[in-house]
Amino acid sequence: MKKITEICCIGAGYVGGPTMSVIAHKCPEINVTVVDINQERIDQWNQANLDDLPIYEPGLKEIVAQSRGKNLFFSTEIDKAIDKAQMIFISVNTPTKTYGKGKGQAADLKYIELCARNIARVAKDDKIVVEKSTLPVRTAQAIKNILQNTGNEVNFEILSNPEFLAEGTAINDLLNADRVLIGGDETSSGQIAKDALSAIYEHWLPKDRILQTNVWSSELSKLVANAFLAQRVSSINSVSALCETTDANVQEVARAIGFDSRIGPKFLQSSVGFGGSCFQKDILNLVYIARSYGLNEVADYWNQVILINDYQKRRFADNIVTTLYNTVSGKKILFYGWAFKKDTNDTRESAAIYVADALLEEKAEIFVYDPKVSEKQIYSDLDYLNTREPSENRRLLKVIKDPIEASKDAHAIAILTEWDEFKDYDWEKIFDAMLKPAFVFDGRRLLDSKKMKEIGFKYYKIGQS
Ligand code: NAD
Repeated sequence: MKKITEICCIGAGYVGGPTMSVIAHKCPEINVTVVDINQERIDQWNQANLDDLPIYEPGLKEIVAQSRGKNLFFSTEIDKAIDKAQMIFISVNTPTKTYGKGKGQAADLKYIELCARNIARVAKDDKIVVEKSTLPVRTAQAIKNILQNTGNEVNFEILSNPEFLAEGTAINDLLNADRVLIGGDETSSGQIAKDALSAIYEHWLPKDRILQTNVWSSELSKLVANAFLAQRVSSINSVSALCETTDANVQEVARAIGFDSRIGPKFLQSSVGFGGSCFQKDILNLVYIARSYGLNEVADYWNQVILINDYQKRRFADNIVTTLYNTVSGKKILFYGWAFKKDTNDTRESAAIYVADALLEEKAEIFVYDPKVSEKQIYSDLDYLNTREPSENRRLLKVIKDPIEASKDAHAIAILTEWDEFKDYDWEKIFDAMLKPAFVFDGRRLLDSKKMKEIGFKYYKIGQS
């Protein structure tokens, strides 16, 4: 079996950074170099102050501290790292296309292609190339075509090794992965490559959790896994709307059905809607692939998961407007949370962005507090929607540092992220500071209804009347 001593990972983002930090930590005999075209991001990874890493994940800074500068390196010298490595992970972004064929649905593979061309240009000896990014099924064929037509006699093995970590729990997910999936060619050289990658994970995971498949099953499994997870969220969210009109309680329903071992209790938490960089993008991609093979019923089935998610976000914003006497114009609404979930600073596709956008259309004055998301990021998320002028976004929405002080004269508070600290706030003090009636719209089902109502709040919780 080929012994790997030098790894390169292209892409120092939410996946590349934490994944490679864990590999370096668990495999001290392997040098791991994470490269990126984004100089600012690499500089942040190399910051002396570990609180300034570009990504916030519980447990990440401790792991980086142990390996950085020993066998874990962050660099913009991409060619040099490719040249040295026996194994190259591609962990670049694969966003939804915003132009041309497949616009709004297909994955944009331009960054993947650039990586493949870069590897093809630089490689002088045999390499194992690992797709870590989430890719449409059959992308490995395109990568192979690019790599094998360079005429430089280098042999490339392409593996698919999709990442299943969830942001907010990335380090724990990597250290205790339910499973690792490795797809590769069913040839003897393909098997050697799969075993070489498997040997890395075997440093800390039992062998029976490392699944080997053909490359197409592996690529497709990642899209399907995300589609199933998102489908559960949309399923319970669709039920939440029904609960609100029938006096049923979504949490009680979730608990009752979750006791059935065929259904199981996990991922049945109703909310204002799923966000994050992956669920929507990967389902849209699945829908696009199904449609491109003429499987329209399959495409429509999965597309419904997205439609319910959009409905849930819209419903939450509409409820705020309706409850506040059909107008929020000029009213102060405080947002607790902007990240798409707790324990991450990632805001991609966060429900908060869309709820804010809908309320700004109604001329609300929004004040946002999030413990980990920067002001720059919040404005950039809103400006990206292009609904109104950036100056108007800055006039109507303010980013604040003190969530308690900001409650003064607020008409309503909307909870958009389930940060633990919100549970510990002095809600009586907040109530006293707010205008009356004081409204709280809990999009994360975070707070205790009974207590909130006892304090005097008009308290609305998703999935409960
Ligand atoms: P990200 O945007 O955080 O990071 C990608 C990085 O790649 C960026 O820093 C970018 O500058 C860099 N990059 C792009 N093109 C490059 C090039 N040609 N050369 C060098 N660097 C380049 O993205 P992410 O969240 O880490 O996601 C990466 C992939 O992993 C995506 O396909 C995503 O779907 C998948 N994934 C993400 C998650 C998640 O939770 N974020 C989980 C599982 C899988």
